Amino acid sequence: DLWNARGHIRFQDVHFGYSDDRVILPDFTLDIPAGQTVALVGTTGAGKSTLAKLVSRFYDPSSGSVSLDGVDLRRLHPKDLRRAIVMVTQEAYLFSGTVADNIAFGKPDATMDEIRAAARAVGADAFIEALPDGYGTDVNKRGGRVSAGQRQLISFARAFLADPAVLILDEATASLDMPSERQIQEALQTLLADRTAIIIAHRLSTVAIADRVLVMEHGEIIEDDTPEEL
Ligand code: ATP
Ligand code: MG
Repeated sequence: DLWNARGHIRFQDVHFGYSDDRVILPDFTLDIPAGQTVALVGTTGAGKSTLAKLVSRFYDPSSGSVSLDGVDLRRLHPKDLRRAIVMVTQEAYLFSGTVADNIAFGKPDATMDEIRAAARAVGADAFIEALPDGYGTDVNKRGGRVSAGQRQLISFARAFLADPAVLILDEATASLDMPSERQIQEALQTLLADRTAIIIAHRLSTVAIADRVLVMEHGEIIEDDTPEEL
């Protein structure tokens, strides 16, 4: 039986650098209560993606800890960690296989009904049904048949179906082709409901839907506010 995480994330005195001679996060402490949507903004190189990579355990801190519901991530079973924390990157990578396979990636026992419901929830169903073989369409290597915006929506559907306690999203910088700003915003609101979310935000419309906005600079939080106060 799977452990159900609540989604409380805490960085405690985290020190991290990719190499010993260059510190990216000198002494980082941050508490994100379960269910909160946090938008992370700041200049390039500030450490936003690094922070995201520490939460998804691509890297571990050299000292201090990152914890989920009070448990150090290093003490979690990898299976529990993957179930609880999902990261959607700006590349929105698609695997070879069908659209349905791609949505169900991470939850291979999903039924077609569940896959369709996830696509519908994020507004991806219309374009998928318009593809030559619908959900059975092969996306090819590197998603040849689908646009960048459509890839983003497929990865949203994948995350919705996986239903993690914590979602980390590195938002695409380039303006997406197909789905409109409004479509992405609506998809995001559905996707973020009832879970903790950390979004590296590039759109103002995303910052606006966050509960809390963190401004990062040189590995530190220099502002911590609601979007209204910023
Ligand atoms: P951006 O807005 O451009 O995405 P960011 O805030 O996400 O920037 P990070 O990617 O976290 O910034 O990078 C923080 C610092 O760490 C930068 O100086 C970057 O060059 C460095 N860095 C990032 N990834 C690596 C890596 N794999 N190896 C070495 N240094 C890295
Ligand atoms: Mg980044």
